[in-house]
Order: sequence, then C-alpha cells, then structure tokens
Amino acid sequence: MSKMNRRNFLKAGAATGAVLAAPSLANAGSHGGKHGKIVIVGGGVAGATTARYLKIGNAELDVTLIEPKASYHTCFMSNEVLEGSRKLSQIEQSYDGLKSMGVKVVKDSVKSIDAKGKKVMTAGGSTFGYDRCVVAPGIDFKVDGFADVGDFSMITHAWKAGPQTATLRKQLEAMPDGGTFCIVAPPNPFRCPPGPYERASLVANYFMHHKPKSKVVIIDRKDKFSKMGLFTGAWKNLYGYGTDKSIIEWRSAASTGGIDSISAKDMTVETLANGKEKFDVINYIPAQKAGNIAATAGLTDAKGWCPVDKTTFESKMHAGVHVLGDASVATKMPKSGYAANSQGKVCAAAIVALMAGKEVGTPSYVNTCYSIAGDDYGFSVAAVYKYNAEKDIIAGVKGAGGLTPGDASAEMRRREVEFAYSWYNNICKDTWG
Ligand SMILES: Cc1cc2nc3c(=O)[nH]c(=O)nc-3n(C[C@H](O)[C@H](O)[C@H](O)COP(=O)(O)OP(=O)(O)OC[C@H]3O[C@@H](n4cnc5c(N)ncnc54)[C@H](O)[C@@H]3O)c2cc1C
Repeated sequence: MSKMNRRNFLKAGAATGAVLAAPSLANAGSHGGKHGKIVIVGGGVAGATTARYLKIGNAELDVTLIEPKASYHTCFMSNEVLEGSRKLSQIEQSYDGLKSMGVKVVKDSVKSIDAKGKKVMTAGGSTFGYDRCVVAPGIDFKVDGFADVGDFSMITHAWKAGPQTATLRKQLEAMPDGGTFCIVAPPNPFRCPPGPYERASLVANYFMHHKPKSKVVIIDRKDKFSKMGLFTGAWKNLYGYGTDKSIIEWRSAASTGGIDSISAKDMTVETLANGKEKFDVINYIPAQKAGNIAATAGLTDAKGWCPVDKTTFESKMHAGVHVLGDASVATKMPKSGYAANSQGKVCAAAIVALMAGKEVGTPSYVNTCYSIAGDDYGFSVAAVYKYNAEKDIIAGVKGAGGLTPGDASAEMRRREVEFAYSWYNNICKDTWG
C-alpha cells in the first residue's frame, strides 16, 4: 500500500475498503482546491488510517493528528499477551511512520470541539482550526452501577490495551493453581464482539499448560455471543467444555438472572442465581459508549453512539465533523479494528474528494475477524459490505466472505492462526505505516 499513488487510491477496490462509484454528494471544503486543513482526534486504528490515507490521497493536505499517548497498543493480539505468548512491546505501534509522511502528530488530549467555529481545543491549551475534523476516540465505559470497581486498578477491564493488559497478566501469573478467573462479559453493542470469548480461550490455554487445576468462568450479560458455535466447539475440543473437568464455564444472562454487584474489596461478583461468589481474579468489561469527547462535542445520540452519513462518515449532528471507528453507528459493521481501518479509507477518500470539490461515490467496506482459541487453533469470519441507501445500512454482500466451517480440518485451523498473525502485521503497517 505504501507505494499507492493518489489516482490508484481513488480507484481502490473493495479489498482496501474504499470504492468510488455512483456519485451521491458534492460539497467542497472551505479552502477548495487541493489544500485544506484536517484535524484528527485520536490516533487509534480509525484516526491513524484516516491520517495515512489522506496523505496518500493528497500529500498537500495539512493533516494534524492529536493523541494523548506517545505510542499505541493494539487491542488485537492483546489476548495473546494475557496468555503469555506475546510481550506487551510486541503490540506497541509508534507514530513515526505517520510523521514521516508529513502528518503532524501532537501529543495532547482534545477537551472540546467548536463545530460552528471549526476549532478544536486541547487540554494542553492549544487551539487548532480546521476545514474538516475527524473524531475517532474509540470507546469509553458506561457507569452501570458497579461503583466499587473504582479506577480499575484491582479489577481490570483490559478493554483498552496497554497498562491494563499488563496488570491483568500479572494478576493471572500471581493466581494460585486451582484458582478461578472470572470474566464479566458486556452487553451489546461493544468493541470486538468475539473478544471476551477469545480471551477466555487463551487464558484457559495458559491455565492448561501452567495451572491445570484453575478455571475460567464467564458471567455474561447476554444469552448468545459472536461465533458461539465455533468457540464452544473449540472449548469442547481443547478444554473439556460440557464435562465436569471443563476449564471454561459460560453462564448466560438468563441463567444468572443478572448481576447485582461487583466488589473490588471482596473480589466478588453477585448474581441473582448464585449470590455473592468470590474469585481470585476478576476481569470486568463494562457496557460501552462512544469515547467521552464525542458526547462533549455533541456528536452522540441518546444511546451514546455517533450517527453518521455512512458513505462519508460525516456526523449527522455537526457538518464538517466526521466520526468513525468504534464510536460511530456503522450498522451492520462490527466494532472491530479491521472495520475501523476500512472506514478510515472510506472517510479519507470522501474528504480528499470533498476538499477538491469533487463528488463522493458509493463506497464498499471490508472486515475479517480472526479468533485464536488455543495452540494451532484459529477461525475467522469475513465480509464485504456495500452501502444500502434504502435501508441506510452498510449491508453484507451476499456470497462474499464467510465463516470457517465448524468441521474444519486441523490443518485449516492451524492455517487460520498463521493468517491471523499475517493479518496483524499487515493491518498495523497499513494503519500506522
Ligand atoms: C481484547 C480485544 C481484542 C480485539 N481483537 C480484535 C481483532 O482481532 N480484530 C479486530 O479487527 N479488532 C479487534 N479488536 C477491536 C479493535 O481494537 C477496535 O475495534 C479498534 O481499536 C477501534 O478503533 P478506533 O480507532 O475506533 O478506537 P481506538 O483504537 O481505541 O483509538 C481511539 C484513540 O483515540 C484516543 N482518544 C480518545 N479520546 C481522545 C481525546 N479526547 N483526544 C485525543 N485522542 C483521544 C485514544 O487515546 C485512542 O488512541 C479487539 C479489541 C479488544 C478489546
């Protein structure tokens, strides 16, 4: 991708997530021509991809990316850090690649956005004017009544990778053999629908090799979950699922009757069905909403997510501001890193066209989600999407993509793990350069 020029970029196909076809919108940026100032809030997958592809689309655009962290830890493959097969440093991405393309990377946090005045204000006291602003802050957590969890120092969420991942790994290492690790899985919608179940699988794999008397209990706030058949199949094959000796136990919301409390002081989770239960380590993944800055900037709906024009990712709340990645309502794309990357390309292509006073076409989008369930045991779901104007949804294209079969051969499952690793290397390069 690094050699892609502007002409090729604008013609890029479904595999890159940005196709310009039938014209749908024309609205030149205030600077017109090929120059213009774009400010991006957040240097995660969506923000970094947009920055990179804006520069690929038009190297003369003035692109500023504001991100509080000096480097970024990917959530993808962070479950392998919990398993112990990957180091935290192996999921760390630097901003040097973006800087080398001429993106101005500012280490600061955005505290407000003036959409009328076209200005972004930071906690550090700087103000950045823009022609178009891209807001990609990922997720934050809903306060859902379990106040005793506090600052997530004793009970982690580890749903934003980095220090939380390191803390949870240390807790698992310190856990005695015979201990129980509890994952409280979130209600829909949330970042990475298969993530909690991949986490359960890889921690079970760690236990099987290092603490064979230990157990993983998933207390779910749903009655079914993504790739459920493939996960439970893997758990049966690898961890004795469904027998007395199973390393993994999954409890549906219906079976527990719901969660009443989670206490960091006592290390307990209380449910209607089981009362207060003590665990050695608890990983509580709360209900989610768009990253806080989205609400502060008036970009969210009543449910806490950001409605957008799905062909440009321009906010339905504020003109000139685009929101993408996990924070956006991109139904029916999942909240995944690959989806955020694909949306970044669609958004960048739209902005390049808009700033040049050209028409924006109808995009296509792509997502593949790999899950690793154990040694040499992986599976995936892949989809290509097109915008469906009648229903205002990003709809899967029939016959494109698919799911690893439940009866896949051992060789196919092993290869899926290899594909997952190569996907990881490619997506990081494609996003941060
Ligand atoms: C355990 C786990 C496993 C996963 N595995 C996969 C996988 O295998 N495949 C996959 O495709 N996806 C996976 N995901 C999902 C993926 O990580 C997210 O969907 C993706 O990171 C979303 O990208 P984003 O840019 O929207 O948000 P993020 O990547 O979270 O980026 C948001 C950025 O915005 C910054 N920010 C927030 N507020 C501000 C502010 N006020 N000012 C400036 N910057 C701000 C943050 O610091 C952050 O860097 C996984 C997630 C988890 C938790």
